[in-house]
Amino acid sequence: MSFNNILGQERAKRILENSLTKGTVSHAYLFAGEEGIGKKLTAITFAKALNCLNPIIAGNGDSCDECLSCRNINSLNHPDLTIIKKEGGDAKANTISELKRNFGDEDEDKESRSIKIGAIRELQRRLSLKPYEGKRKIAIIDCAEDMITASFNAFLKTLEEPSGETVIILITSNLHSLLPTIVSRCQIIKFNTLSNEHIKEILIKNYHIKEGEASIISSLSRGRLGRAVAMDYRSVCKLREEALKLVTASITKDTEYIFTESKRLAGKKEALPEFLNFINDLIRDTIVINKTGRDDHIINKDIRDKLEELSVKLKAPFIINMYEAVHKTEILLKKNANPQLAIETMMMEMGGIRDDRFQ
Ligand SMILES: [Zn+2]
Repeated sequence: MSFNNILGQERAKRILENSLTKGTVSHAYLFAGEEGIGKKLTAITFAKALNCLNPIIAGNGDSCDECLSCRNINSLNHPDLTIIKKEGGDAKANTISELKRNFGDEDEDKESRSIKIGAIRELQRRLSLKPYEGKRKIAIIDCAEDMITASFNAFLKTLEEPSGETVIILITSNLHSLLPTIVSRCQIIKFNTLSNEHIKEILIKNYHIKEGEASIISSLSRGRLGRAVAMDYRSVCKLREEALKLVTASITKDTEYIFTESKRLAGKKEALPEFLNFINDLIRDTIVINKTGRDDHIINKDIRDKLEELSVKLKAPFIINMYEAVHKTEILLKKNANPQLAIETMMMEMGGIRDDRFQ
């Protein structure tokens, strides 16, 4: 994967390519933009270009994608590349090759899903060493907003006193949650969501998805190519259908369905964030239908008839309850709350039944 293979994000690629050809690479970058739009892929591609043994100097400074360094970075197995992610769930902290180990034991913070100070201290130690194999030591910090305060403070020192051959790339989907002192020390590169048409075109051309399916997936992806590519049409339609049923059952206060469904959904924990996205999108679409009736602003255009039925039942008090309940559940699940209980409570509250278990 080289810059040419990254679809979209022309502006971000141009800035990075220019820094490579002009020799003006910064010691710290901040890649900011929504999730699933190519920030991490671009960071790894940039890391390859920085350490490539045969870079395309005459072109855009891109990597050869073939040398030993490129191959090692492709397999995330390069001694001079460290990737730090938050701990907890499936996003466990990991680094490369011999550096694989668990961090953060010394941190007293009780939040399980975070970038802990132990990880940052280990990173500082590694960055203080000379490059082992490549030209530069590169650190990619994914979900930088998940650094706990102590980690932010420790990291600030690294940014203030960068060692010569170091390039740090922070990745965030929530720029405003980072400390201003960190942001001000980085070159900010903003990543944008893509238009539905652009995503549709990419899905058809590069992923050979049928036009009808590509059209629906691109609309559901909300401008995030990563999300679009990860979507399997049939499973997505099924999950959306289930989300629609759940919303309806909540309105009719069908408690039997609520209990059975929350138990079933608890077993599909990894699909829950997407499931909640669908609920939000469905509620949003009913508001659009009620307020404007315009087709071009509807996300789930292909099920408009079902949405019209729902929009008749979904009145203002329900809508507020629903948004609040879904938002609360998103937070609870991030905090590793019991999924069955969280979904049960959500469905009750969506239908206006007060549930105090998570108050
Ligand atoms: Zn190379």
